[in-house]
Amino acid sequence: MLTGIVISVSFLTGCCLILAGILLVAERRILNYGPCAIDINDGKKKLEVAGGGTLLAALAENDIFIPSACGGRGTCAYCKVQVAEGGGTVGPVEAPYLTPDEVKGNVRLSCQVKVRGDLNIVIPDELFSIRRFRGHVEHKRPLTPDIVEMRIALDEPAEIEFIAGQYIQLESEPYRGRDAVMRAYSVSSPPSETQAVETVIRLVPDGICTTWVFEILKEGDSVQFSGPYGEFRLSDSDRPCLFIAGGSGMAPIWSILRDMNEKRVRRPAIYFFGALTQDDLFYTEPLRQLEKDLPDFRYVPALSREPPDSDWTGERGLITEVLARQVPDMSEHEAYLCGSPGMIDAAIKVLTANGMPESQIFYDKFA
Ligand SMILES: Cc1cc2nc3c(=O)[nH]c(=O)nc-3n(C[C@H](O)[C@H](O)[C@H](O)COP(=O)(O)OP(=O)(O)OC[C@H]3O[C@@H](n4cnc5c(N)ncnc54)[C@H](O)[C@@H]3O)c2cc1C
Repeated sequence: MLTGIVISVSFLTGCCLILAGILLVAERRILNYGPCAIDINDGKKKLEVAGGGTLLAALAENDIFIPSACGGRGTCAYCKVQVAEGGGTVGPVEAPYLTPDEVKGNVRLSCQVKVRGDLNIVIPDELFSIRRFRGHVEHKRPLTPDIVEMRIALDEPAEIEFIAGQYIQLESEPYRGRDAVMRAYSVSSPPSETQAVETVIRLVPDGICTTWVFEILKEGDSVQFSGPYGEFRLSDSDRPCLFIAGGSGMAPIWSILRDMNEKRVRRPAIYFFGALTQDDLFYTEPLRQLEKDLPDFRYVPALSREPPDSDWTGERGLITEVLARQVPDMSEHEAYLCGSPGMIDAAIKVLTANGMPESQIFYDKFA
């Protein structure tokens, strides 16, 4: 009887062990997808990648850089690609960012697509020319209490081609227990400067990348970034321009204005720049110089929290109020906006209320 019980227990234990073994192997099969093939643009490029990661990361590892301003968190919706085959179903994180037509056309956020088998994708051809650059911090200097100008001299490749208004994706390194991240920063230098890129970076309290830039990164340190990215740029029209920016939103506008000056672009332009107090203004002298160099250019800084009894004689109030006061009819202008989403949304309301069609409004939200 006792022997029978012992045999049954041993038999059951054996069965359990075998079952556990089968489950373990099965789970390993699920987690370890093995090599997967990615076909891009009907065979234009074919990759073999390790399965399990995201499509965005798999492409980046193979030097194909899809714009992703949020670094893969599924919050910027810049990394859309068409996944013709193998992408699985649309997930809850990406669903809010896809229109019904995009879902029908198999458009997906590449940061949310997991590589679990062979994929067939379509991307714009120009993305093949985005590259990863290695450089070093040539200088980092404060512009305001919470904004620095950082110039990165290029080491490999030694030169970059970009259009004024475009941005790079800076790659931070792990520090104080925080992971490496990628964040978008507009280039503030003009495209004529090919051997370095300048950026204007505002410290975001507790922000991973900006804390790294402000507190860890030193002059001479190596940095990596990819680029150039983005569609924000001056159009070919000859309409008068309204540039509107706040804080580090200065960066792409400053690149566009310097480019206009170098190329002697004669479009009438007004630059409305919003800041809190005089301490938050920067590049004032070169912008005043630009008013002399570009005959039809005006710079209008406006302060919203400057003490009433200070020596400031310029515009006061929100940049949107100043804009509406100075340009009552905006129907013939084009607008170029950069900065926080809140400022941009408020400015778009003012622009459209004052006659500007949405097709004449261009912006980069620093979301
Ligand atoms: C096209 C484009 C161009 C840009 N150009 C510039 C530029 O020229 N200059 C510039 O300064 N910025 C620019 N930005 C913004 C920049 O990309 C970063 O978003 C910004 O610098 C913050 O990055 P961070 O890593 O420091 O902050 P993050 O770590 O991303 O954090 C941002 C904030 O979110 C909070 N946060 C983070 N994660 C969570 C979470 N899980 N839950 C709740 N809160 C959270 C943080 O506490 C912090 O307050 C641009 C953005 C875009 C899209």
